[in-house]
Amino acid sequence: MELKLYNTLTREKETFTPINDIVKIYSCGPTVYSYAHIGNFRAYVFMDTLRRVLKYNGYNLKHAMNITDVGHLESDSDEGEDKIAKAAKKENKDPYEIAEYYTKIFLRDFERLNIDKPEIICKATEHINEMMEYVQDIVKNGYGYETSRGIYFDISKLDKYPVLSDRKVDEQIAGARVEVDKEKRNPEDFALWIKAPENHIMKWESPWGLCYPGWHIECSAMSNKYLGEEFDIHTGGIDHIPTHHENEIAQSKGKTGKIPARFWMHCNFLTIDGGKMSKSLGNIYTLDTLAEKGIDPIAYKLFCFSSHYRNKLNFTFEGAISANTSLMRLREGYQKHLNGTEEVSQDVLDDLEEKFHKAINDDLNMPIAMSYVWDAIRIPKKSKQVADLLLKFDRVLGIKIDEKTETKLDIPEEIQKLLDERKIARENKNWELSDKIRDIIQEKGYIIKDSKNGVSIEKK
Ligand code: AMP
Ligand code: ZN
Repeated sequence: MELKLYNTLTREKETFTPINDIVKIYSCGPTVYSYAHIGNFRAYVFMDTLRRVLKYNGYNLKHAMNITDVGHLESDSDEGEDKIAKAAKKENKDPYEIAEYYTKIFLRDFERLNIDKPEIICKATEHINEMMEYVQDIVKNGYGYETSRGIYFDISKLDKYPVLSDRKVDEQIAGARVEVDKEKRNPEDFALWIKAPENHIMKWESPWGLCYPGWHIECSAMSNKYLGEEFDIHTGGIDHIPTHHENEIAQSKGKTGKIPARFWMHCNFLTIDGGKMSKSLGNIYTLDTLAEKGIDPIAYKLFCFSSHYRNKLNFTFEGAISANTSLMRLREGYQKHLNGTEEVSQDVLDDLEEKFHKAINDDLNMPIAMSYVWDAIRIPKKSKQVADLLLKFDRVLGIKIDEKTETKLDIPEEIQKLLDERKIARENKNWELSDKIRDIIQEKGYIIKDSKNGVSIEKK
């Protein structure tokens, strides 16, 4: 079945076919100076869904994701302190210790969300030589020049800049509240390699003295190393479009003459009260915040599926709680079908499978795909065939639909009273009364199961 993906580069949904048999993907990973928040994780849930959809379509993947542990300054316009170095100073720790700690937490959260991990996870600090060589090649090809602050990319050497976004260069400059560096040839030129001031913590020997990398060079160097000059898909959040990805493209053109990826895919923001959720604005929630409120982190995936990845999604706890209830219902539904023995028409199942496949292949349309998941759950006959179909769908959802979860059923007081009366009847070996109460409870919509471990109750 045809797979269509939206390409920011062409601003169109295009049919996806890989360059070679293995689909090569690069994703911009986290800057590990603090806890990743659920806004960040929206971008990784999107990345996970993309991986799973490609696999569902039969592709094998080679996917690299970076960990930014140096070089990401406070502002995208090469101003401010390095975020990791700043956190190290604040917490009075070694920057590597900071990066290692937050990387560990980040990868633990990947597991809590059941995110299918990229084949390659690469750290910026472990690729300093590759970055330095990349910068040298850019300079050798005439696209880079030295100033007293570092090595800069000369955007006037490009045939076109910007190519991803339609922002006007002049508008950006006029809007930026930074003083234009007089040594730069063009106001939009950006830093490839930065000369380290005396007290800078993370710095490396280079042909231009002790330096540290600019933020964008790590992604160019690592994608080139692991995936080659041209690969299939590059992903990130929409905030990467105007600067980071634009500059990655510029760097690649400066070294290889090519735009590195065919498809550029971007996930829109998770907002809160209509504004962006971000560390710098201090309005963030983490997966721990959700867990503290009794919300299973995997339910956050379902919350993300309530909106298409290219649309904004506003976070509310009511929404997250309702996603948690949905997760429980989906898992309960799966169990009911798993234990069922009824026969469901194969045509019905094939039709649902085809609709689901069509939805995910239409630029990962998860809200529509979820509607077919629910249609399957709601099939009145209880059948193992439905459970098998749900398990197939779960290859894309990744919500561990076959996991048994302890559900705390909200039992109405009236039912609880009947349960207590039945307990007394059973203690008195009054089986007749016990059965009578069980029937009343059943009429009211609940099923009671007696086992040697005690009594359990579930909704019909
Ligand atoms: P960072 O760790 O700041 O480099 O960001 C990691 C990823 O999270 C990037 O792909 C960002 O685009 C993405 N991101 C940051 N904030 C949000 C948000 N509120 N909603 C969705 N994605 C976000
Ligand atoms: Zn990147």
